[in-house]
Amino acid sequence: MNGRSDSVEIISPNNVLANAMLRSIDMVRPRLQATNPDRVAFCVGTQINGAPHLGTSLVQTAAFLLAKQTKRAFGVDTVVRFGALDNAPYDIRLDPETHHAYQTTYFHALGADGVDDLLGKYYRGMFDSLADATGVDYEIETYTAQQTDPAFRHEFLATLGWLDQIRWPLAPSHGQVHLRLPCPECGWAEKRAERTRLQRTGSGGADFTAVCTDHGDYDIAVTADTGAYLDLATLYRNLVKERMAARDHVTLSVMVKGGDWAYGCQLVDEAFAQLPGPVPPPRIFTPMVLTDTGAKLSKSLIREGKVAPPPGTHPWMLDVTEWPGSIDDYVDAMVWLVGKMLADPKHLYRSYTTQELDRIMTARPATTTGVRAREMNLYRRYFDLVASGRKTIEVRVQYPNLRNLKVGDHIRFVCGRDDALTQVRRVARYSSFEEMLDSEGPARVNPDSPREQQLANIRRIYGPEKEALGVLAIEIELLDHAV
Ligand SMILES: [Zn+2]
Repeated sequence: MNGRSDSVEIISPNNVLANAMLRSIDMVRPRLQATNPDRVAFCVGTQINGAPHLGTSLVQTAAFLLAKQTKRAFGVDTVVRFGALDNAPYDIRLDPETHHAYQTTYFHALGADGVDDLLGKYYRGMFDSLADATGVDYEIETYTAQQTDPAFRHEFLATLGWLDQIRWPLAPSHGQVHLRLPCPECGWAEKRAERTRLQRTGSGGADFTAVCTDHGDYDIAVTADTGAYLDLATLYRNLVKERMAARDHVTLSVMVKGGDWAYGCQLVDEAFAQLPGPVPPPRIFTPMVLTDTGAKLSKSLIREGKVAPPPGTHPWMLDVTEWPGSIDDYVDAMVWLVGKMLADPKHLYRSYTTQELDRIMTARPATTTGVRAREMNLYRRYFDLVASGRKTIEVRVQYPNLRNLKVGDHIRFVCGRDDALTQVRRVARYSSFEEMLDSEGPARVNPDSPREQQLANIRRIYGPEKEALGVLAIEIELLDHAV
């Protein structure tokens, strides 16, 4: 369909999930059937602590492709939500007396602007490119922003009444939950919260005491809307985030995580089991990148010289900015690779060694069409007009991923199994659909429908809040069609 065929073969044994499902995307179907949501958000979280590696790209690319396939297979609106974990430890030091570890987060060390710079440096270009390649929009939220959300803080406060029950699943070896409430004066917090104590919890909030190496004892009051920074360790953060997501009946959240999380979620599920209320959201685990020993590829172990780079490792596998080419070129390679993994549940629910990934990527066919097209989905009645060349103006609202759309770009319109490749001749921006129709002329948007009917149809697709983003009229020229 897209003019690209390849004979790279992946051989995978059968497994329990592959035996149960024909398509990888069917993993979201049970909850879709049960809850009938308006849209599905594929949620992916990444620690903001330096250059991403291949494993990170696999998870992120899978989120976009799963969103694209879900939209197509189940006809539901989808989005990718990127959680930027700016509470990753930036620096760690030891208290000279107790030898307790203290840490400060990326947010506390670099500030919101510094974190935003890192997001721009490592992720925005990749996400814009993934959005273009898949036709799926994305949202970025930092952990720092998330923990200020009253809903998040309320969800956390609600768990404190069951702290005696959930502290065992969250910390099975000692029951000491790593709940970090940084010192208000310096922003450092005891990493393992050895001396952080819950003094009182009630309906309005909770009072804690903690100890800073430099500033001594301090009190922290956590309520739904106070500013005290709430740095939850990994398992607790996932518990709160997943419980919050599970309460949303309009948007179904699907967590997309690296395969090593399949183990970690066992404890999150134990904590869920101790609490009343929602059940965990659906989760999809993506393949792990392994060394020749079968261990997960670890950038830090290699950097520290504890292990040698395993066979088949390329520099870009450890640091994706080392990819010998543009971001678009890298994203195309990832979309191809993850597309192959998603094509069969046997290929998705397994891991890959660096050597096997090297073999697959080396055999990757060159892009044969020569054009990189962003994909846009169309209803059948509009698609047929585009594919016959009768519709030359496509109307969209100005989603963030369309801000770079320009003359000369290619757009592949998709409807079911059909697609039509077009090239952008002109992009005009308007403040309303009326203004756009008056200026462009309704016949070029839809030759078969009168102006007022078009306006009603467009407004059924895009509500007032979407129209407020701005209206794009995209003049297109049909290059080929394969109906
Ligand atoms: Zn301090």
